[in-house]
Amino acid sequence: MTNKSNAFANKIQHIQLAGMTGLISALALSGCTRQQETPPNILYVFPDQFRNHALEFWGDAPFDTVGILNDPVHTPNLNRFATEAVTLTSAQSNCPLSSPHRGIMLTGMYPDGSGVPLNCNATRPISSLRTDVTTISDVLSRNGYDCAYIGKLHVDFPTPNDPENPGHYVESQVPAWDAYTPPERRHGFNYWYSYGTFDVHKSPHYWDTEGKRHEIRQWSPEHEADKAIDYLKNRRDLGKPFFLMVAMNPPHSPYRTLDDVMEQDYNLYKDKPLDSLLVRPNVNPELTDKQACAPYYFASVTGVDRAFGRILQALKELGLDKNTIVVFTSDHGETMASHVTDPKNSPYTESMNVPFMIRYPDKLKPHINDVLLSSPDIMPTILSLAGLKGHIPASVQGQDLADCLRGTADPATLPTGVLYLRNLDGNKDEQGLVTDYFAETRGIKTERYTLALTLDRKGKLKSTLFFDEQNDPFQMNNINPEEQPEVFADLCRQMAGLLKKANDPWYRNRTLNDIIPYE
Ligand code: CA
Repeated sequence: MTNKSNAFANKIQHIQLAGMTGLISALALSGCTRQQETPPNILYVFPDQFRNHALEFWGDAPFDTVGILNDPVHTPNLNRFATEAVTLTSAQSNCPLSSPHRGIMLTGMYPDGSGVPLNCNATRPISSLRTDVTTISDVLSRNGYDCAYIGKLHVDFPTPNDPENPGHYVESQVPAWDAYTPPERRHGFNYWYSYGTFDVHKSPHYWDTEGKRHEIRQWSPEHEADKAIDYLKNRRDLGKPFFLMVAMNPPHSPYRTLDDVMEQDYNLYKDKPLDSLLVRPNVNPELTDKQACAPYYFASVTGVDRAFGRILQALKELGLDKNTIVVFTSDHGETMASHVTDPKNSPYTESMNVPFMIRYPDKLKPHINDVLLSSPDIMPTILSLAGLKGHIPASVQGQDLADCLRGTADPATLPTGVLYLRNLDGNKDEQGLVTDYFAETRGIKTERYTLALTLDRKGKLKSTLFFDEQNDPFQMNNINPEEQPEVFADLCRQMAGLLKKANDPWYRNRTLNDIIPYE
């Protein structure tokens, strides 16, 4: 608050104390006093592995001016939503893998802070969301929100804690990947309908708030939309604003057969030649098995679009749409036969660039925005938009970009580059349990360039990926750093600052300090 508004507030208080209520009412009516605003609800929907390119509207006005070559997908609900939202072109998942992204997003901290450097499974006790950190849901819960989580969580180390079969893991697969999250690990979420990770899309399962397991025979996004709508209508605490996260698994793999997708969605793509579906010039001709998945991946995208549309419709019918911040995003992208087999965990655009649309009627003017928002910025930005800027924990390493979304930020304050991280298993004990992680690759993504430096196990530089997306938008020409030494040096300089800010192990160990100019 400025001194001037402070003085004004004091004057108002003085008048109130003097009992001149008639004047107060007149001031209130004339808009001189700032009425206490109802806190907004927050709906955060994030299907898994949904690349930014799999959005139909990028091919249509006004979005086509951005120049994103999009997939030939049908996303009618997201097309409409984008016209009502701030639609980001360049949102990035720093560590484009399920568990690490989710850890960063929930805490606003890079993996050393969140506790989740690797994908969670029973061999990795060192990768599990810390119980002693403050998550976005902790902050919202403490500030009077009813907090609900529906769908895939995948941030907890699986332990033998099956609530219906004590002493056993929730699945017989070795190592266990799926996990049950007990109440003491739920970080303020008081309504629960979730699981760790499980990839049978038409036979999903969930544990509810009380720890009861539910086996479902329905395509999981449709079921989760049903549960989200049921929560909005019947389950939430009507005396509180709500924070609802819906974490759908599709379009995550598997996407190979009609067991994985809805037939009505598959029918939209099944008769199209693959080269009409895979339009990006960086599709790798050798990855024929992966290419064959394209009709199913796009069918998953269309099914997710429909499920999202149903939740939005329910929000509208309940009269909640005006005072609800709605976010649609993903944990990472999907290469879908571009470049490499691995759909994620690489610095390629198809892996790092995620959808990010945020709608807040009357508060955020719909527009296209090219800010480099990345995973740790999500928590502070949402809290700030919800009027809780003063409650952003000091532990948060990301940036509050709410003013950027409002269109009022000083451009000089916005990120010019974001970190890229890839971690691998480090050492293991006699039982084969991972005891530390190996910070294998670090990189930077700027508006124009992508650079990633990969180490061998001895800590020496093994390989680089270096792309100039202005001249090479599909990242098909890996530049030898010796050809562009000044650009390379500048990117390394920027990386040094970001690694320091993140307190990354590369900064702490001064990794590659012959290349990266740490302070
Ligand atoms: Ca994922």
